Amino acid sequence: MSEQMEMKELTGKLIRFLENSPTCFHAVEQMAARLREAGFEELREENSWKLKEGGSYYVIRNLSSLIAFRIPKGQWNGFQMMASHSDSPSFKLKENPEMEAEQHYVKLNVEKYGGMLCAPWFDRPLSIAGRLVIRDGERLISRLVNVDRDLVLIPSLAIHMNRQVNEGYAYNAQKDMLPIYGGKEAAGTLMKTIAQAAEVHPEDILGHDLFLYNRVKGTIWGAEEEFFSCGRIDDLQCAFSSLEGFLAAEHPAAVTVHAVLDNEEVGSSTKQGADSTFLEDILWRINEAMGGGREDYLRRLAGSFLVSADNAHGVHPNYGDKADPTNRPWVNGGIVIKYNANQKYSTDAVSAAIFKTICQKAQVPFQTFANRSDMAGGSTLGNIANCHVSVNTVDIGLPQLAMHSPYETAGVKDTWYLVKAAEAFFQTALVSEGRGNYRMF
Ligand code: ZN
Repeated sequence: MSEQMEMKELTGKLIRFLENSPTCFHAVEQMAARLREAGFEELREENSWKLKEGGSYYVIRNLSSLIAFRIPKGQWNGFQMMASHSDSPSFKLKENPEMEAEQHYVKLNVEKYGGMLCAPWFDRPLSIAGRLVIRDGERLISRLVNVDRDLVLIPSLAIHMNRQVNEGYAYNAQKDMLPIYGGKEAAGTLMKTIAQAAEVHPEDILGHDLFLYNRVKGTIWGAEEEFFSCGRIDDLQCAFSSLEGFLAAEHPAAVTVHAVLDNEEVGSSTKQGADSTFLEDILWRINEAMGGGREDYLRRLAGSFLVSADNAHGVHPNYGDKADPTNRPWVNGGIVIKYNANQKYSTDAVSAAIFKTICQKAQVPFQTFANRSDMAGGSTLGNIANCHVSVNTVDIGLPQLAMHSPYETAGVKDTWYLVKAAEAFFQTALVSEGRGNYRMF
């Protein structure tokens, strides 16, 4: 198959993954299924672990974060990790979500999760998905749910009723963003609809984390079919590429780790986010289960490396002035290495040099990103994870447009580049000699 065909096929696979991942819970479930298929064994944090050389395992926390790892045969010096995030900005259903409106509609009370572009949520079919907790006798059972049909919609106000709208509008989440669920006859039926989709009784639902999601299908487009658009590209494009590369790298020299963490969009400080002990707990337990003590753990951390993979802004064709004058990544131009003097991105001279060497080994292009010096940028998970697991880290991502829209755009080539780079990273022996010196082979 030609490289171009391979890239398109991979993008098709990514789009299916995105469409089947309406929420972080579904993304984690899909990755777990893929890992099981590849022979990985699920570990529970509640149990005692017996790990084997050459073993492949994964752990899930809160159904929304996942850490998979492979233990090599023989000696190993550290952890080679790639981390991305499972969540995306959306609207979360509040408790008692139904609201009667104008005596003729039922609308839903929702609140913002993360910082989204509001405008593109209007006038398109949406639905509801997430996690339920169900009573089952003495047990409480978590169950994923997706109402897999066009269910709700947020209609715009007509131009005639706000002639100034195209001159700029400040969206009010409590007024403008509430979706219509049905006519007045629909009152009292929302939880029944949700329960039916989950095949449970509505009275057994004791808890829910439910989000709106965009129903518009993903598509590959452009003169040469070089672009694709879909929901949740940030950051499931990186999560997908990390997993593909991780699975393809069959004989690693280190313990390789594929981590996908929740709650990046709201600052990561939850029990399953990058600011939790999740990653640290798993690394510590691997070290201990393989017979390592505290000194072995610290020695291994000193020889470890983290690729923090979260999507980056490509230069927008209509807003070239918003990008830095000399670091201008473009869609399909390759993996973006992100820099920030104040260390919102953890990249430094050493970690950049290591990552560039990986890209060269994989024969994939890389480019660089920095914010304009007069603009504050976003943040990501690398520097937050570093406060718990202090290892040499590079921040990277794939270039995209319309970040935090419910329909984002990225490049068909770039996913392929990151899969190749991830595979090369997980397969490269990276030996730290101290004082910032490394041997790579
Ligand atoms: Zn992101």
